[in-house]
Order: sequence, then C-alpha cells, then structure tokens
Amino acid sequence: MKTVGYAAQGAGEHLAPWHFDRRQARPNDVVMEILYCGICHTDIHMRDNDWGFAHYPLVPGHEIVGRVIEVGSQVTKFKVGDNGAVGCMVDSCQECDQCKKGNEQFCREGNTMTYSSPDRIDGAITQGGYSKHIVVREDFVCTLSDKLDLSRTAPILCAGITTWSPLRHWNIGPSSRVAVIGMGGLGHMAVKLASALGASVTQISRSLKKKAVAMEIGADAFLVSTDADAMKAAYNGFDLIIDTIPVKHDLDVYVPLLDIDGTLVIVGAVGPWGEVDGAPLLLGRRSVAGSPIGGIRETQEVLDFCARKNILPECKIIRPDEINDAFVTLEKADIPYRFVMDMSYLHV
Ligand code: NAP
Ligand code: ZN
Repeated sequence: MKTVGYAAQGAGEHLAPWHFDRRQARPNDVVMEILYCGICHTDIHMRDNDWGFAHYPLVPGHEIVGRVIEVGSQVTKFKVGDNGAVGCMVDSCQECDQCKKGNEQFCREGNTMTYSSPDRIDGAITQGGYSKHIVVREDFVCTLSDKLDLSRTAPILCAGITTWSPLRHWNIGPSSRVAVIGMGGLGHMAVKLASALGASVTQISRSLKKKAVAMEIGADAFLVSTDADAMKAAYNGFDLIIDTIPVKHDLDVYVPLLDIDGTLVIVGAVGPWGEVDGAPLLLGRRSVAGSPIGGIRETQEVLDFCARKNILPECKIIRPDEINDAFVTLEKADIPYRFVMDMSYLHV
C-alpha cells in the first residue's frame, strides 16, 4: 500500500515527508493506521547512525498506537476497528529458547526491529512509526485496554517497557529502594512504574530544574548528581539504579550509591564504558548490568498494568511537521516528558 512518513535520507539529515510502499498483508499480518507515535532518544541516535547499523531512507518511530484497518486471513487477535500497539520489535524466529520464554528481545537469530532492520521473509528494510500506516505480524501487536487514553499511551511501548523490564527482573516491590538517573522519556516512566510497584524512588538529575515534576509524578526524593556532598550522603542507599543517560559517562560517580548486592542497570548509552573501579563492585558484591527493551508478553503486561493503575506517560503532543524542532529540544535534554506526534495531521 502507498503511505507516507517522515524520513532521514542520510545520517544526520533533517526528517522530511517521504512516500513509500508498505507490504501487502500476509495471512498473519495486521495493517494499522497510526494514530500516535512517541519520539524516543533512540530515534536521534538512529538518524545520526550513532550505532552504525542505520539504513536510509530511515523512518524512525517505535512507540506506535494505531487502529486496525485490515487483517490477514489467519489473524485471530484483532479485527478491523480495534486499537493496537507496536513497540521496538516486529518479528523474531519464535522457535528458539528465548522466543519461547517470551524474550523475543534476546531471539537467538536476532529480532527484527521496527525500523532499519531486514524483514525475515523478504529482506526489505523495516520502516517505523513516523508514518501513516504500518503492517506488522499479529504476534508483535499488543492489545489496548479501553481505559488507556490513546493520545498518552505510545511511550509505554518503549520508555515504559524498557524501564518495566528491569524493575520486574530485579523483583522491585514495596521494600525496594530504587534510583533513576536522568529524567527524560525513560527516566520519568521509571519513576512512575517503580513508585506504582510500591518502591521508594529517588530521581537523580543534573540540576534542581526537574525536581517539582519528579515529586509530582511519584518520586520520594530528588538527588542532584553534581552536588558531591548530597551524593556522598546517599552512598549505599539503593537496591537498583536505572541509568538512562544517553551518552558515555563516569559510572564511578553512581556505583557507590548502591547498597550491598545492589545493581546498576544501564538502559541508556550503548557502547564502550572505559574504566570502572572494581573496588565497590568487589567489596559490596555490587553489579553493573544492562537491559534492552523487553519481550512482547512483558510489553502487554506493562500496558495492562498502566491501564489498571491509571499510569500514563507525561506527553507533549506535536504535529509531525514539528519533528525536527522536537529533536533539537530533546537533544538539549531539558524536558521531563515525551514528545508524541498526532499522526492525524499526516496525509498520504
Ligand atoms: P531523553 O528523554 O533525552 O532523556 C535522557 C535524560 O538523560 C535527560 O533528560 C537528562 O536527564 C539525562 N542526560 C542527557 N544528557 C546527559 C549527559 N550528557 N550527561 C548526563 N545526563 C544526561 O532520552 P530517552 O528517550 O529517555 O532515552 C535515554 C537513552 O536510552 C537513549 O540513549 C536511548 O537510546 C536509550 N534507550 C535504550 C533502550 C533500551 O532498550 N535499553 C530503549 C529506549 C531508549 P537530567 O536532565 O535529569 O539529567
Ligand atoms: Zn525507544
């Protein structure tokens, strides 16, 4: 089908409207008209080819909420008119031990990412949600409760699941002490989710600017990372630290904040870290770990949890033609919320 999206034609280039074709629905595909798409910091990394695997033209977007307009002959979970949601993956082998456990993010054959990834069947490069339509294998489309406000749901599909997955993996609950480094799209969702799980939550940020919002959305405390005395006073205070900083940074500043057996989990920057002091790791059996997105089952779980607990991301709704300005603002990192595009402004 003919559709339109906002694409970068090369590394670092501004996004502009681009007309392209989506595949015909296969028997197990769902065709959706996209209603809203969130803007993740990853989309900037990919526009700029920071990780070396971007394909151009590149239509970013992996926080997708849409309405089903067509279904393949074998689709059972959706019918025309239903709402559906797509996150960071659109396919995987479904056969390996990890896929069978619901950990498609760890598929032994590699998962197919929502954009800039070769399709498993025809090899075509996938294109993301900054577009009017998308065609996705049914198993990778999540259902949406009527309780969710669709205009504020999209960021759960990446910012939500990426912070939910480590919270669940490390069994966060009422007796846990969680810190979140960086208050952006991922960070503010981590605060909301950890707080809803009953943990005591501290937001760590580079200045006091975002304190009021952090406390409003569920943080119990706010720590400024550039305040050396306050940081020292917080040493040994956390069981889990979720680190959302999008660039390489000094982990030695944060590891001592962990209590014995605590874990700092990196969900932000990908790439080499440089030196990390082994002493606090050894002496307190502390860990530094990483975590990518989450499986489809877990993504459905966080969507349902948010619906049940009435948790919604903080969103600023924009038009698709404002995307390049939104990227500039996001790069300055001074917003404690997610930009979400209202795709009704985009016409084929
Ligand atoms: P974001 O909205 O831009 O938020 C990042 C926050 O990190 C900023 O608000 C800022 O918080 C802090 N920060 C920014 N630059 C910094 C710097 N130079 N030094 C220290 N702190 C800095 O980004 P996001 O969408 O939440 O994404 C965060 C990172 O996660 C990105 O790298 C993205 O690619 C990655 N990501 C990973 C996964 C995964 O699967 N693991 C999934 C999605 C995204 P303060 O102003 O509060 O300090
Ligand atoms: Zn993302």
